[in-house]
Amino acid sequence: MKIKPEHLKLIRKKAGKSYCHQKVAALAFNHKGDLIMTATNRPRFSKEGGGIHAEMRIMLKRPTTRTIVLIRVNRLGTILPLDPCAACASKARELGIRILSVRP
Ligand SMILES: [Zn+2]
Repeated sequence: MKIKPEHLKLIRKKAGKSYCHQKVAALAFNHKGDLIMTATNRPRFSKEGGGIHAEMRIMLKRPTTRTIVLIRVNRLGTILPLDPCAACASKARELGIRILSVRP
């Protein structure tokens, strides 16, 4: 799946809204390629869903997702490399979800 320019713009904007030092955002697409959910990571200490990775929040809420696109940016909005952690990668395999990362 190729990431569309409008989705790249959206995911960068979304990541910029993360309160975390490591700003991560994820977009979820269904089997038709429609955008069905967006998420950011959240600080560990926040009440709801704190410390849960953006991609994990999507997988828990929308397990029928087919593809997740992930991005990590710094405070300046520069894209940084990111790979899903072992727990998220394993959950994605279990659900048959493909995780793609936006590369710098
Ligand atoms: Zn993870």
